[in-house]
Amino acid sequence: MKTDQARRRLLAGLGATLGLAAAGLPLGGSASRARVVVVGGGFGGAAAARALRQFAPDLEVVLVEPSAVFRTCPFSNLYLGGLRSFGSLGHHYGYLQRRHGVRVVRSSARAVDPERRQVRLVDGTRLGYDRLILSPGIDMRWDALEGYDQTAAERLPHAWKAGPQTRLLRRQLQAMDDDGLFLMVIPDNPYRCPPGPYERAAMVAHYCRRHKPRAKVLLLDAKDAFSKQALFEQGWREVYGERIEWVGFSGDGEVVRVDANQRIVETAFGNRHQADVINVIPPQQAGYIARQAGVTDRSGWAPVKAGTFESRLVPDVYVIGDAAVAAPMPKSAFCAHSQAGVTAAAVLASLAGREPPEPAWLNTCFSLIDSDYAISISGQYRLRDGEIQEVSGGVSPLQASQEFRRREAEHARDWYAAMSHAIWGA
Ligand SMILES: Cc1cc2nc3c(=O)[nH]c(=O)nc-3n(C[C@H](O)[C@H](O)[C@H](O)COP(=O)(O)OP(=O)(O)OC[C@H]3O[C@@H](n4cnc5c(N)ncnc54)[C@H](O)[C@@H]3O)c2cc1C
Repeated sequence: MKTDQARRRLLAGLGATLGLAAAGLPLGGSASRARVVVVGGGFGGAAAARALRQFAPDLEVVLVEPSAVFRTCPFSNLYLGGLRSFGSLGHHYGYLQRRHGVRVVRSSARAVDPERRQVRLVDGTRLGYDRLILSPGIDMRWDALEGYDQTAAERLPHAWKAGPQTRLLRRQLQAMDDDGLFLMVIPDNPYRCPPGPYERAAMVAHYCRRHKPRAKVLLLDAKDAFSKQALFEQGWREVYGERIEWVGFSGDGEVVRVDANQRIVETAFGNRHQADVINVIPPQQAGYIARQAGVTDRSGWAPVKAGTFESRLVPDVYVIGDAAVAAPMPKSAFCAHSQAGVTAAAVLASLAGREPPEPAWLNTCFSLIDSDYAISISGQYRLRDGEIQEVSGGVSPLQASQEFRRREAEHARDWYAAMSHAIWGA
């Protein structure tokens, strides 16, 4: 009952970001027969497709996504820790099609032709569009870390896209010796989910506490500070004692080379670490299709107009989610969802020849330290002087009761249920 109430509250909060678009955007004349193509059925893309159809039921919305089942990165760390099944991370597109009338095309976009306003799929089919929304997430930068390419990732998984990589990492963790070393290589900013590696460390430690009592977790980090650091360090210590060790950039945490066959990583100062399981999270960039469409710059990410997330480089193409440069918003599922609502409203306004509504975005990222212990960071964002600015926000208090941490863990579970429901429907 309590969970249902919390879920309703969360849904109301999620709806509030979309609500700003829901009012007063009837499409007239030819705009109501327009077609919006959305590439990517993850947090940003599926939410945008759904919001577009909710706000403009006559609009043709085509969602291009290769997977029949979308597996969420959120809570994939809990799967590694043994707190969630792999199946529970999967979401289908049936409800989006049946209930919301989104046309889901199960394919990959191969190329975008902005001149002709067409998306070409891998089978050669061309989809014309009036507006295009890209939410392809991330790709790994395979050239960024010596020795780490797609083949190496089969031995040293990144598990930074949920799916086979996540299962591989879990199998390796299960097969590790009781006194084994689990080593994680963490990149510099920006990357998908700033607190994700540190939650993963906690979940791996959680698993080890029960199944590998003498195992250690070593984090080699290319930066000196990270999201919710004081809270994570406190939580790790309280729950797992000395099991987790974090080494930042100044302490020789930057890994510059990996040897996948020997399971060795080498740091900038020339130190070598061998480990039983190595989880390499490499530097990242916007998904391939964003790069191919010409919406990314030299950073590998897509610069966008702050109020609408229309590309600064290609007109009528909008980029949301992790692929976009949206700082100070983090690359999170919550932000991708929030951007989806704002951008859906902006797309509809643009089709109707109107000014976009005043945007507002939200974020909350929960991180589990233990099954009944979570911490969070929140932010509210507004457009100020043409830039996205954080207008309020904060993190969980350092001094808090066990009951407080337990309730945050409950909120995390409610958040996941509410967010999945708000996007994929069930
Ligand atoms: C371990 C981990 C834990 C996380 N935990 C949280 C959390 O607790 N809370 C939170 O808010 N965020 C969390 N995140 C971050 C979150 O996963 C991302 O920010 C979010 O998924 C971004 O949404 P997106 O739409 O940009 O990309 P995605 O959700 O990855 O969706 C991209 C989709 O695009 C599709 N695609 C890509 N290329 C093409 C193409 N050419 N044609 C068609 N489709 C294509 C892909 O198949 C995919 O389905 C976590 C991330 C990780 C790695």
